[in-house]
Amino acid sequence: MSLFQSIETPAVTYEQPLGLFINNEFVRGVEGKTFETINPHNEKPIVAVHEGTAKEVDIAVKVARSALNGEWKEVTPSERGRLLTRLADFLERDIETLAAIEALDNGKGVTMAKGDVNASAGCLRYYGGWADKIYGQTIETDINSLTYTRHEPVGVCGQIIPWNFPLLMFAWKIGPALATGNTIVMKTAEQTPLSALYVAKLIKEAGFPPGVVNVISGFGRTAGAAIAAHMDIDKVAFTGSTLVGRQIMKSAADSNLKKVTLELGGKSPNIILPDANLDEAIEWVNLGIFFNHGQCCCAGSRILVHEAVYERFLELFKKRAEQNKVGDPFSTETFQGPQVSQIQYDRIMGYIQDGKGAGAKVITGGDRHGSEGYYIQPTIFADVTEDMTIVREEIFGPVCTVQKVHSEEEAIRVANDTNYGLAAAVHTTNINTAIRVSNAIKAGTVWVNNYNTLHYQMPFGGFKESGIGRELGSYALENYTEVKTVRVHLSRP
Ligand code: ADP
Repeated sequence: MSLFQSIETPAVTYEQPLGLFINNEFVRGVEGKTFETINPHNEKPIVAVHEGTAKEVDIAVKVARSALNGEWKEVTPSERGRLLTRLADFLERDIETLAAIEALDNGKGVTMAKGDVNASAGCLRYYGGWADKIYGQTIETDINSLTYTRHEPVGVCGQIIPWNFPLLMFAWKIGPALATGNTIVMKTAEQTPLSALYVAKLIKEAGFPPGVVNVISGFGRTAGAAIAAHMDIDKVAFTGSTLVGRQIMKSAADSNLKKVTLELGGKSPNIILPDANLDEAIEWVNLGIFFNHGQCCCAGSRILVHEAVYERFLELFKKRAEQNKVGDPFSTETFQGPQVSQIQYDRIMGYIQDGKGAGAKVITGGDRHGSEGYYIQPTIFADVTEDMTIVREEIFGPVCTVQKVHSEEEAIRVANDTNYGLAAAVHTTNINTAIRVSNAIKAGTVWVNNYNTLHYQMPFGGFKESGIGRELGSYALENYTEVKTVRVHLSRP
């Protein structure tokens, strides 16, 4: 099978790399394995890509190690920053192509996909800015000593990303790792390998030395597991399900105790208090759950509404959700495209059946949309109770529950009644209430009168079983450096 193929989309025709990206070249796997990626809009294969397994991970780790100890080490921090900003420029230059790839491979609306490209470029540029501002401290202990710290790269970093934001997760992961001088073996999600391979081509064009970034298309239980268990990977960064996060941590512990950061699932509460500006709150609630087809780890899937505004809220929210444009990812009007895969579609439909069976009331949706593609109607359940599966488990689709609460205290108690702690929101026009509630919620991000407004300058990550460590902002840099203390004894003349 060839290493490149011309692909025609409704927006652009472009050359898609298909190989594994190792040492700045697109190559075949050792055994020549390939797998197909599916278009979720029509359920048909788009193209086959070359598959990496443990063997190819091993090869990639070796070249990443030699780049770390060789050419990459010689690159100055400001040059690292320049490479990252140049890569950001190339993402923006190729925005039409990258957005089309995401629409084709992931199913997100092309307008949303352009937002992802811009956010990815912004993230890379932001970390490019950090590259020459990473340094330690000098510590005064006594006149006979000079003590200082160095923030050194951790080393070879294994990075495993999911399919919901293929390009953006790639940027979130490589930005801080490269700014701090690490090298990377990245495994993309098997459902969405295409955009990262295209960016790999841009990485080479930007001038990164060979071996600094390696991209493996492959499956979790083979290539992903090989990264987590590898004896010569110094750190693993993972975004995905809590279930797999646990396995990765176990593998890290059982192998070389590599450093672990995890960005995992959520069941995030979105609280509407009686004094909220309801019209504005509805917009944020709608975006909070239905953005990216509900395929966000921080999706506001548990909506907790004060009894004083419950009925009015349901009426307005139903009306708003029914206005969401569901359909072809290549229509610029589309807000919600198909779910990413048959497996996800089945899983979500299973939860919808479960909710109906448990007696939750369907306010809108509750069925498939159309007859082809993995489309699901925006679905709102109301009159739910805390013990229902649809209230407790992450659905990862366009499905939310609306639950009535009777006081601020109850809202806080219910909001925190989960093993997750990724995000939350409170809608109120009272600043005291806003701060009181946000302080009381156990979550890594709390939005006040907004939702899903992530930004590369803001740290993001989870309390409790939603993860370990923080991505984005200056906080992410800490995950990618080892602090070395140097103490020099000064001899007296
Ligand atoms: P989802 O269920 O939504 O696909 P996963 O957590 O399974 O989410 O997948 C996220 C990423 O983790 C993907 O790149 C996937 O291939 C990878 N993955 C899945 N299982 C494993 C595993 N056992 N070890 C390492 N990576 C894995």
